[in-house]
Amino acid sequence: MKAKLKSVYTFNTDISDYFKEIKGLLIDIKEKQEEKKEGKPIIFNIEQKGKKLHLEIIYVDRSYPHQLLFEIRNRIKTEFGKKYHLTIKELEVPLYEIEFELDKEPLAPFELPFVDEIKYDDTRCLLLFRDVKEERVLQKQYVNRIVKRIKEKIELQHYIGKAEFSEILWASEKKDMIWNKDPSKEMFENGWIAQAKTKGKWFFGPQFVKILRAMEKLVLTEIAEPLKFNEVIEPHHESFSTLLRTGHLEGVPMEYYYVCEPKTRTPEDWEDFIDYLKITKEIPIEILKEKISPPNAINCYVQCPNIYEFFSGKTIGDDQFPLLVFDKAAVSNRYESGGRHGIERMDEFHRIELVYIGTKGQLIEVKDKLIEKYKLIFNEILDLEWRMSWVTPFYLQHSGQLGLDDNIERIKGTIDFEAYLPYRGSREDSEWLEFQNLSILGDKYIRAFNIKAQRLELWSGCSGIGLERWCAAFLSQKGLNPNDWPNKFRKIVGDLPKQIVFY
Ligand code: ATP
Ligand code: ZN
Ligand code: MG
Repeated sequence: MKAKLKSVYTFNTDISDYFKEIKGLLIDIKEKQEEKKEGKPIIFNIEQKGKKLHLEIIYVDRSYPHQLLFEIRNRIKTEFGKKYHLTIKELEVPLYEIEFELDKEPLAPFELPFVDEIKYDDTRCLLLFRDVKEERVLQKQYVNRIVKRIKEKIELQHYIGKAEFSEILWASEKKDMIWNKDPSKEMFENGWIAQAKTKGKWFFGPQFVKILRAMEKLVLTEIAEPLKFNEVIEPHHESFSTLLRTGHLEGVPMEYYYVCEPKTRTPEDWEDFIDYLKITKEIPIEILKEKISPPNAINCYVQCPNIYEFFSGKTIGDDQFPLLVFDKAAVSNRYESGGRHGIERMDEFHRIELVYIGTKGQLIEVKDKLIEKYKLIFNEILDLEWRMSWVTPFYLQHSGQLGLDDNIERIKGTIDFEAYLPYRGSREDSEWLEFQNLSILGDKYIRAFNIKAQRLELWSGCSGIGLERWCAAFLSQKGLNPNDWPNKFRKIVGDLPKQIVFY
């Protein structure tokens, strides 16, 4: 990396008389800096004209020079402030150039906030800031984050269009399929489910709910109870501060339903809104916009962040591990837009989220037990044709990252559980449906939420069970007629409620 930084310090008075001393101080700072870190010598070009001190800093094969600007300002203040009544009125940065090497050539140009220009020469990148007005750009970690973001964006450019990483770990045997119809379409025509007034949401009638609740019961009796997961109830909203910790806000901001609060709940403040509404019978959207605050939370997207928030900042006794909890109360909302399809991809869905916290060894054990239980349910009770695949971990995907977390040990990462949907086409050519997943995250969220044991080193993981997706997988393979279903599951469902007849 190479960096050139031009700065101008403007003093309260002509500094000609003190320049020699100030220059001495600058050279001292430079030499101390050179001693601190290995790397090429630092170049300081110093000039003085009246009240102005011009300093150009050149770094080669070192980190960033901008932190030095503020150190210099402070040192001048402490050494000469009182002595010569000197103050620095202004610190300007007319130009800051950073040149660094990229792993890959960029495929298309892009812009970034705070940056004036990004130039490329093959894999060499030149980053230009002109006339930096805001000190926070240089004082905080913006510059190195900008460099990181450039690399990340170029990496993404190369990735787009390529198939997501996926490798089959295990597959069940082939099963006979009852039909090849789309269950959502059939249930819609039967009146079992109906489209709701809000986008991508469905109303579930009694028949479908009976099936969905049977799936829920399977999770509770076959997994949560025997493996001793305790139920928690989490709030339905996830705050921005929580999502900043998990990285979700950076990853999938285009998929959220945002939550706004009213600015006040004083009835008088809403009087004009109500007046307009009563008179026009139309919603005065512009007036409404003025009365609500900007969003500060989202409707639940994933359930685990709020669970980590519960344990955040706590130290937990070593004998409590593995800590096993689950939530089935929060309803998930996602803006799926063009991807919506029936009960498989909805904007509002129901999921049971198992979260486990413990040592690496404990989590491997939990994972093995969970897989054993899942196999029992999908093989013995639901009789599904399904498989497990090793995929890009959800916690990387949800924070806008790529690839695998740990390709060597294959302990940290995500397993997707996928089912064959005959209505989509052949086993080989059609896309299978991810109906749940299981992850071990390592210490990523443990660190993000500062969760501690007394002595143990903690890891965490989760498994998200999409209830509508379980139904979609089952009904796609087994049809809507309970007579065609495996006996064990039929017993759990019981009799379906009588069809509601609409005339
Ligand atoms: P997909 O790739 O199908 O969009 P995802 O990777 O976004 O799924 P995750 O974020 O891993 O899904 O969510 C965990 C589980 O939540 C999924 O395995 C699935 O069961 C369920 N799920 C996710 N999105 C939806 C949706 N739009 N409708 C119904 N269930 C969903
Ligand atoms: Zn999770
Ligand atoms: Mg998705």
